[in-house]
Amino acid sequence: MEIGDGTLAVGAGRPEAENFAPALPGPVFAAHYHLAGEAVGPYTYGRDSNPTWTRLERAVGELEGGAEVVSFSSGMAAVASVLLSQTGSGDVVVMPDDCYYTARALKERLESYGAVVRMAPTAGDAQLGLLEGARLVWLETPTNPSLDVCDVRRIVDAAHRAGALVAVDNTLATPLGQRPLDLGADFSVASDTKSMSGHGDLLLGHVATRDPELADAVRFWRKTVGAIPGPMEAWLAHRSLATLQLRLDRQTANALAVAEALRGHPLVSGLRYPGLPDDPAHEVAARQMRRFGCVVSFALRDEASAERFLGSLRLVMQATSFGSVQSSAERRGRWGGDAVPPGFVRLSAGIEDTRDLVADVLRALAATE
Ligand code: PLP
Repeated sequence: MEIGDGTLAVGAGRPEAENFAPALPGPVFAAHYHLAGEAVGPYTYGRDSNPTWTRLERAVGELEGGAEVVSFSSGMAAVASVLLSQTGSGDVVVMPDDCYYTARALKERLESYGAVVRMAPTAGDAQLGLLEGARLVWLETPTNPSLDVCDVRRIVDAAHRAGALVAVDNTLATPLGQRPLDLGADFSVASDTKSMSGHGDLLLGHVATRDPELADAVRFWRKTVGAIPGPMEAWLAHRSLATLQLRLDRQTANALAVAEALRGHPLVSGLRYPGLPDDPAHEVAARQMRRFGCVVSFALRDEASAERFLGSLRLVMQATSFGSVQSSAERRGRWGGDAVPPGFVRLSAGIEDTRDLVADVLRALAATE
């Protein structure tokens, strides 16, 4: 019998029971390990390997449905490890033009190394038209912050026929929301700063793959650029995985409740949440996702009304991230990197009581009029 997500999350990566040993051994802080004589073993130097990473990587591999995992010091370190280790001069890389804006910022870096970057929107699987001769296809679904969704299986099948590898940025969904590797992708990549660790207190990222050669290439990239996770962060993230299913279920329920409360509200336009049955992304999302994530996006009339709304929230923290246990929101246009209207708000639902969160959002909206 297959175990449930809660059971999987609680036990993921934990060592075999051993008398007088803790259930999850604490972080190992080591720059180097004893290595006398001909010593061979998994732990040599702290930039190559660490037992705390090993346990976290096993855990994330189990959540990904069985995979080798390489963890990184941030989501961007993980994103860059795939884009930059898998491509070189003359290679064609296909990217969404609406993915996380710092990932998009790697376009110029790739081009400076001689790669050719083609871009198209996520909605409607527009990447399909750009695959000829491609080496790597980068997907992000749902996208941050506009919450468009592409059909991963469909693009993977076409990309593989064209001879390209496919990587999916799965940050928003997490592996309990969607498993890119099960949909045929070669890499599942994430910022674990968000829902995976879920407490807004650390930065981490990971790359998962079922191909040992690709895993070795990404691991070697980490060794050579040194983008390694700190043992304390790795341990905190592993500890937090035990509650991943609980947190996601509450966040998803809260996000849906907020989206339902905003639907039809006279001040709100452009509401997006892939879990809403009438959302343009819902049909594809429902086919490939098991949980629709914590982010809801919408627009208020203009910058001033969005700022009034954000300033009137009491439970919802104003912050530029998502996935934490505490709800947060921001006016995305303040950074200038996304093609969104000035009044566009990205709201991340936390694990507060649903009634309290919805009341806070509706009260703040009433105060923006
Ligand atoms: N990918 C997505 C979809 C993100 O939203 C982010 C950060 O917001 C990243 C990658 C980068 O993650 P990090 O901030 O952990 O470097």
